[in-house]
Amino acid sequence: MATYVITGAASGIGAASRRTLESGGHTVIGVDLAHTDVTADLSTPGGRTAAADAVSEASGGVVDGLVCCAGLGSLSHVPGGRLVAVNYFGAVELVTALKPALERAGGASVVVISSSSTTTQPGIPENLVTACLDGDETEAVRIGDQVTAIPAYPASKLALAWWIRREAVRPEWIGNGIRLNAIAPGMIDTPMTSGDDLDPELAKALDFYPVPLGRRGRPDEIAALVEFLLGPGSTLFCGSVVFADGGTDAQLRQQDW
Ligand code: NAD
Repeated sequence: MATYVITGAASGIGAASRRTLESGGHTVIGVDLAHTDVTADLSTPGGRTAAADAVSEASGGVVDGLVCCAGLGSLSHVPGGRLVAVNYFGAVELVTALKPALERAGGASVVVISSSSTTTQPGIPENLVTACLDGDETEAVRIGDQVTAIPAYPASKLALAWWIRREAVRPEWIGNGIRLNAIAPGMIDTPMTSGDDLDPELAKALDFYPVPLGRRGRPDEIAALVEFLLGPGSTLFCGSVVFADGGTDAQLRQQDW
């Protein structure tokens, strides 16, 4: 059985992934702000280092898979800079810090949660995506605060998907048996899309989000995909961004790929 690390394990998609993997007999080390195994704030460099250290200790230095679910949504009143710090830097810096432990597993898998907003939301600030991919957190946070959370959200998730595609094919990762992939969920019913702290006007707009399937996704449907991408059935997946959105992306950009 494997040892998997899940950030954002206390809620939503992360909590569902934990349940799915544990019911398969695997060991899960959760990372979140509270209510899980490792308490850490992934919005800061110090919090990410502390998380990596605690995970390395808890896992004995061998991690078979890492799932980065921790994130902030754009529908509550969150500063855009903090959102970028968690959604992008909180993921890529933890993946990087845990690389030695992933390497030791021999055949590890990393899954990050991007978003279908990367292809459905217009007006993504390109300079924010570039600052993220350049690793310039100070500039990315400054731009995020300036543009606010609504455009910062898809920018953080686009940068995350592109980082995965850029890094996945480098010998440092795949040459050491570590597969990097991303999931781009559509609208999933979690506290991020239906919590009490959402701006009521923005939350109402979600009712107009086009989903050909006719309903929101459930966290366990994303967890099933997480389990697949971590497991032996997905060994040919390297740098893939898998949309799981009830048809939204196909409907909005049928021939655009
Ligand atoms: P959620 O709010 O239920 O869970 C997010 C988790 O991240 C929470 O447990 C929260 O405490 C944790 N978190 C936030 N800031 C943190 C920090 N600074 N340090 C550590 N942990 C922190 O939301 P969810 O819907 O389960 O979202 C999981 C991931 O899926 C997020 O990255 C989100 O952007 C992405 N996503 C969600 C949807 C959706 O419709 N729900 C769609 C696309 C992508």
